[in-house]
Amino acid sequence: MSKPQTPAAANFLRPIVQADLESGKHSKVVTRFPPEPNGYLHIGHAKSICLNFGLAQEFGGDCNLRFDDTNPAKEDQEYIDAIKRDVEWLGFKWAGQERYASNYFDQLHEWAVHLIKSGKAYVCDLSADEAREYRGTLTESGRNSPYRDRSVVENLDLFARMRAGEYADGEKVLRARIDMSSPNMNLRDPILYRIRHAHHHQTGDKWCIYPSYDFTHGQSDAIEGITHSICTLEFEDHRPLYEWFLANLPVPAHPRQYEFARLNLNYTITSKRKLKQLVDEKHVSGWDDPRMSTLSGYRRRGYTPASIRNFCDMIGVNRAGGLVDIGMLEFAIREDLDANAPRAMCVLRPLKVVIINYPEGQVENLELVRHPKQDMGVRVVPFSRELYIDHDDYQENPPKGYKRLEPGGEVRLRGSYVIRAEQAIKDTEGNILELHCSYDPDTLGKNPEGRKVKGVIHWVPAQDSIECEVRLYDRLFRSPNPEKTEEGGSFLDNINPDSLVVLKGCRAEPSLRLATQEDRFQFEREGYFCIDPKNSQPNAPVFNRTVTLRDSWGQ
Ligand code: ATP
Ligand code: MG
Repeated sequence: MSKPQTPAAANFLRPIVQADLESGKHSKVVTRFPPEPNGYLHIGHAKSICLNFGLAQEFGGDCNLRFDDTNPAKEDQEYIDAIKRDVEWLGFKWAGQERYASNYFDQLHEWAVHLIKSGKAYVCDLSADEAREYRGTLTESGRNSPYRDRSVVENLDLFARMRAGEYADGEKVLRARIDMSSPNMNLRDPILYRIRHAHHHQTGDKWCIYPSYDFTHGQSDAIEGITHSICTLEFEDHRPLYEWFLANLPVPAHPRQYEFARLNLNYTITSKRKLKQLVDEKHVSGWDDPRMSTLSGYRRRGYTPASIRNFCDMIGVNRAGGLVDIGMLEFAIREDLDANAPRAMCVLRPLKVVIINYPEGQVENLELVRHPKQDMGVRVVPFSRELYIDHDDYQENPPKGYKRLEPGGEVRLRGSYVIRAEQAIKDTEGNILELHCSYDPDTLGKNPEGRKVKGVIHWVPAQDSIECEVRLYDRLFRSPNPEKTEEGGSFLDNINPDSLVVLKGCRAEPSLRLATQEDRFQFEREGYFCIDPKNSQPNAPVFNRTVTLRDSWGQ
């Protein structure tokens, strides 16, 4: 495999990790990727995966896969399985078994009791609305809850009864006792535990109280000995709370949190909630619809793991953020496939051609190289009297500069002879049914004496080609910022109605009979394609267009 040429952009965390190893602060780097199993992974997650696993790999450390599963109502085993599959597909291996924050529920519960005993947590009976009102605003300090000064004994008793299931959802919460006047809202007595009578995919019915994200995340990092806890910038304001828990609990380690800018891609939605809406409301065929920004969608579309990793290297890691042009992702896959995908011919809108001066019954097995630059051998394309070319490659009134077939004009068939259009056979309405051409026997692999034939078109034999379906995918959203809508609109209004064009009755060259799910091809002049694993039948393949040939980025 040839390597991509595009250089990687800077990653501000690399020198930090390197310095921590050189100074001896850490002897081994340990990172983690902590998805919540409430949806499939998307291209934004790929950035976080490449960053966390990439740093561990580069510096000989470990990266854990930890499911951040504190909200059983929205989580599902299907998502856990899909996330594991996608991380592996991207080419990464987590250290040991996958982990679950729910593995630590006993320890977290013990630490909640520890905070109560040291007077740093209390049970609060305010309703959600009341609590919001007491919390204050960004410009206005909050007020202490009337339950804030409950005794340790009372708090221990109430928390035990919360756990025992004596109260209904929302009736009470456990809160940290920090500072209701802090300018950082996250420190205004944040919630540690909520009552939720819900079945959990890992812990079953053991718990009816669940820890909050904030009370879970940092301590899970500490339990796992994470050295660099890397998250996106919206958690920057949570860092003081993250550190408060580490400082006030007998944790075994003190990880440090670092924030980076999340990936925002134009023409793309990367919010699990909205992706789920697209699936639930059937705007797409599923989480792995080839137009989705999910990793399973890109996989089915024909993207390679290497192209996605290269894309993540190209965008780099910083704190500034900004919007990334989707053309860059398309560039990454084109660069990979141009170098590594064998060439093949597939006619999307077949027009039958009869070579009137080619002997009936004669067949020549022409050998065409699989790749122009790499040695991938040849494939055989049988040439005989009847073949197909694309309807668009013959025009009776061609525009100026047209290099394909026109009445009386000549064109080369890729890897084969020069043919001349002699006569178009039409139905009563003037539609062209087939084209009669002549061929020049002296033109196989060489140019005709004294004549210039500029155009080269692709073709397939009529007899041995495979009938197939081809699906042309385009961007799912027609607007660069799909979230931006008219008053009262939604991102759904920006769906591109032409994002999927299905072509039936296409004809592929015989060698494509052997195509497998892992194969990618450049269909000459049409783009890059792969087999659709879900819709293909043994003798009726469906090909997905991964990306067009044309580059829009950097021009
Ligand atoms: P979403 O906003 O899609 O629901 P999330 O952040 O809630 O995503 P998590 O499952 O919590 O989803 O994400 C797991 C990890 O992936 C987190 O560390 C999160 O910061 C990171 N991540 C999520 N989206 C992006 C993104 N667009 N760019 C970079 N990292 C991301
Ligand atoms: Mg999240």
